[in-house]
Amino acid sequence: MYHPRFPLRSPPVIGSLHHGASTSKTTIFTTTGQSLRKRPAIFLDRDGTLNLEVDYLRCPEDVSIIPGAAKAIARLNAMKIPVIVITNQSGIGRGVFGWKEYQSVAKKIEELLANDGAHIDDVYVCPFHENAENEYRHKDHPDRKPNPGMLFKAAEKHHIDTKRSWMIGDKEIDLEAGRSAGCRTALVLTGYGNTANPELADIVANNIEQAIEQILSNWPA
Ligand SMILES: [Mg+2]
Repeated sequence: MYHPRFPLRSPPVIGSLHHGASTSKTTIFTTTGQSLRKRPAIFLDRDGTLNLEVDYLRCPEDVSIIPGAAKAIARLNAMKIPVIVITNQSGIGRGVFGWKEYQSVAKKIEELLANDGAHIDDVYVCPFHENAENEYRHKDHPDRKPNPGMLFKAAEKHHIDTKRSWMIGDKEIDLEAGRSAGCRTALVLTGYGNTANPELADIVANNIEQAIEQILSNWPA
């Protein structure tokens, strides 16, 4: 059984978790029946990009938002640009922590962003890993970055044009997933950013705030 989506407070099911503030499935059509042009979006890695890298982050008290991230995301929110988090959480598959711990961390991130007037529009989480010892064992799950599965699901749900969108992350797997989905990519030098090959990215920035600043300097995409 594979359920890629369920609301924030539902019990966990097998599959990738998907939750978010926006649950509408609105597709806007013109009077002639043509759908409006797809939108560009910003896809974000979570750990090391949005919040400080902590090995297997599972306690809300260990969450720190990277300075400047909330302000930059609030700017995207004001421009009505969808902000979608795309995160591997193999700690769930490896049994290091469970969905309850995941949810408590996700809630803390939401709260800290909200304190600075920012919000994430949607979150996609992949618990699968090749070494998992539970139902999340999978040799090469299509949702696990560097595979682009979660980006494609988000693009379909939110009517996103991936070719005009960006993926921001601190690891090569983020850049590969973004590129495979057709996005341009930004490497941030927070988290593991200094260990990634910068040549894989379209732009390199010190942090998420500067990445968004650079991306918006040529917006609309
Ligand atoms: Mg990361």
